[in-house]
Amino acid sequence: MPIELDNVTFRYGPQTPLVIDGMSFTVPHGQMLALMGPSGSGKSTLLQLIGGILRPTSGQINNSIPSHETTWVFQTPTLLNAQTVRHNIDIALYATGWSPKQQHARVETVIESVGLHGLGETGVSTLSGGQQQRVQIARALAAQPQLVLADEPTGQLDHTTTALVMDALIAARDAGTGIIIVTHDRYVAERCERIITLEDGHILSDEHRAEGSPT
Ligand code: ADP
Ligand code: ADP
Repeated sequence: MPIELDNVTFRYGPQTPLVIDGMSFTVPHGQMLALMGPSGSGKSTLLQLIGGILRPTSGQINNSIPSHETTWVFQTPTLLNAQTVRHNIDIALYATGWSPKQQHARVETVIESVGLHGLGETGVSTLSGGQQQRVQIARALAAQPQLVLADEPTGQLDHTTTALVMDALIAARDAGTGIIIVTHDRYVAERCERIITLEDGHILSDEHRAEGSPT
């Protein structure tokens, strides 16, 4: 299994309570997994543990996916605001060894996949928040990483844009990318093949679905 958690606990400081309290589960290669649960239940912390930003207080996390094969998406886009959409996505392909021609074609493909066709030469500062978020997602998917870790990626998007973003993520999953999404949005979770729900640092439920629902 590419990602295995074995009795993982985590606390932010020596005097603070456990925010992850004995979690064990595995994530198979290429799975599309949603992490749900109330605010403060430990979703963001768990994502950061899986991504190696935080280290467990006790227990083990084995994540065999190299960090250069992992990309992140946050609720608020972190883009180069003085640059074009194309340049922001080009950056993700800089060290991949793809030829300039392959890079150009790939950037066009991901721009289209998030519904931003024709906006490649537009400066990102002139885009709406929802459009900027889609640039962030296009950048995360551009190099076809093995794993995307997304913390509330649709938290500030309307339903139409959320559906578009989910289509793009599902297409990436179909091409072999594993995706772990922290979300409050039932619609987003139900388009994933597995939903783990947290409560107070514990797993409340781990629901495997036959397939993500189509809409
Ligand atoms: P969410 O509920 O979406 O995880 P929060 O508003 O709880 O977002 O947290 C936003 C940021 O603040 C995160 O980076 C989180 O790590 C940090 N944070 C949350 N709670 C605390 C806290 N008690 N002390 C310090 N930082 C915190
Ligand atoms: P969720 O993503 O489910 O909202 P978090 O993982 O952000 O939950 O937070 C879980 C708990 O850890 C909360 O009680 C939060 O206040 C606390 N917490 C989060 N980040 C920090 C931090 N940087 N320092 C101290 N406590 C934190």
